[in-house]
Amino acid sequence: MSEVLAIFEHDRGVAAETSFQSLGFARALLAAGVGSSITAVVIGAEADALAHDLGAYGASSVVLIHHAELTDYAPEAWGEAVAELIALRSPAAVVATGTDRGNEVLAYASAIADLPFAANVTEIRSVGDASLDLTRVRWGGSLLERSKLVAATYVLSGAAHVFDGEPSPDHIGATAATETVDATLPDTAARTRITDRVTLSSGITLTTAAVVVSGGRGVGSAEGFAPLVELADLLGGAVGCSRVVTNNGWRPHSDQVGQTGKRIAPELYIACGISGAIQHWVGMMASKHVLAINTDGEANMVGKAEYAVIGDLHKILPAVSAEIRKRRTP
Ligand SMILES: Cc1cc2nc3c(=O)[nH]c(=O)nc-3n(C[C@H](O)[C@H](O)[C@H](O)COP(=O)(O)OP(=O)(O)OC[C@H]3O[C@@H](n4cnc5c(N)ncnc54)[C@H](O)[C@@H]3O)c2cc1C
Repeated sequence: MSEVLAIFEHDRGVAAETSFQSLGFARALLAAGVGSSITAVVIGAEADALAHDLGAYGASSVVLIHHAELTDYAPEAWGEAVAELIALRSPAAVVATGTDRGNEVLAYASAIADLPFAANVTEIRSVGDASLDLTRVRWGGSLLERSKLVAATYVLSGAAHVFDGEPSPDHIGATAATETVDATLPDTAARTRITDRVTLSSGITLTTAAVVVSGGRGVGSAEGFAPLVELADLLGGAVGCSRVVTNNGWRPHSDQVGQTGKRIAPELYIACGISGAIQHWVGMMASKHVLAINTDGEANMVGKAEYAVIGDLHKILPAVSAEIRKRRTP
């Protein structure tokens, strides 16, 4: 039986929403005819408890990889551990979600295993005898590439938010058998190690907020962000921004959304004075709803948003906040 190994990403035993999408991607591969079963791979003993739920996402088994160097995220060590598993089990495919970590781990694993790696796949177009015809997203989302992958084991990441991250309707109540593998990592696997963690923000963060009020060049200055902060506070949300804003030093880089910033998927993204360049759009395109506030009715963001208000953000935002306050006053 040929396996699809699905790397289950986590941070010290805490899964992210995108973690489950590697299993959705693995299910899509099985449906396309690659492999006949899914084995979830959970790296580091701290994450053992996560294995219990993965049967419902289509995994028939879970491999727990243990080693002293795997107690925290360490890209080379995780990559080495995955490469060892490839050598041990010769799977049909190894997949992860195309997050920064998912792609980093598979880049190391494929280099060590001497296999080609296709990152950020959006579609399996067809399956040949020893090849896959794929579509993948490149250049921060600005182009879709059709490519053919020829390999003994396919190493692939699925573009984030493209594949299903929900439990599989065909596996309701299913449980997966677990097996523990002790990795035998070389000394070089510990070249990169997390030694300290600094919490830059607490409570609601840009990546977890349900509402993000984001500002671009149209905000005009650091002080100009006051009405955005006010609205974000009223809505229990967070403030984001475009690269122009961080380049100008109006907000810290940790607030930047886009190709070289954060990729977020809030319920509501309010884009204030942001034109909607592709490099910004790729960071927030997974938002459930987008509201654009812009003086230019022809701006890209206005064309793409579900809702738009054409006008000066410095007049509109205070008016919206005042209205919210009024309605909340008993
Ligand atoms: C390799 C690379 C990576 C990049 N990565 C990122 C990234 O991660 N994130 C990112 O954001 N960009 C990124 N960029 C930059 C990107 O290409 C754009 O330059 C940038 O997103 C534009 O920012 P903006 O929308 O704030 O500014 P602009 O494009 O200048 O748009 C300003 C908008 O504000 C509107 N406006 C002006 N005044 C008002 C007002 N008073 N009220 C309402 N609206 C008003 C204007 O009509 C306009 O639409 C990257 C570029 C490159 C080449």
